[in-house]
Amino acid sequence: MLYLGELSGGQQVYLENQEALTLLTLTSSGPGQQQSQRSSWQTGAWTVPPTIFQTATGTIIRLETNQGQLFLLLQAGGVISPAANPPDLSGARVLPLNPVTSGPATVMPPMQPLPPMQPLPPMQPLKPMAPLPPMEMRMGNMQLQMGTASQAQTPGAFCTQCGKPTESTDRFCAKCGHPLK
Ligand SMILES: [Zn+2]
Repeated sequence: MLYLGELSGGQQVYLENQEALTLLTLTSSGPGQQQSQRSSWQTGAWTVPPTIFQTATGTIIRLETNQGQLFLLLQAGGVISPAANPPDLSGARVLPLNPVTSGPATVMPPMQPLPPMQPLPPMQPLKPMAPLPPMEMRMGNMQLQMGTASQAQTPGAFCTQCGKPTESTDRFCAKCGHPLK
């Protein structure tokens, strides 16, 4: 069984018991980076899940094994030292420790190499778009035609005199007064 404890400062600790061995993986994720540190100790088999304490001086992991109690002291800077004698746990806060099914990504087995990529089939040439049928909307006596109306517009809606863009409703250029068709 693998256990995950959330420590202060964004650190996570993974604890796992493999026969008589206790595996500890300490991960700390800072901005843009993730560090992982793995340690293991001969502790004996756990009899109960570990307990994590947060004290004023650091983090303490208590292991209860068939060889007795053992404490792992996590100090600032990621230094982990085992201690046989129970440290001062007065005022310590118990941190949650949850069973998880998978450890940190850094201790997972390496990924299988990907098969070589198959070349993509050549793209089909795009079919020319069929012209849209003219849309027609009728609202009472109002009639709005789109599509057919735009085809009736003067091609190239620019003033032939000065080049200013013109509206299809303009009869004269708004800039130079040139009559528009
Ligand atoms: Zn003009």
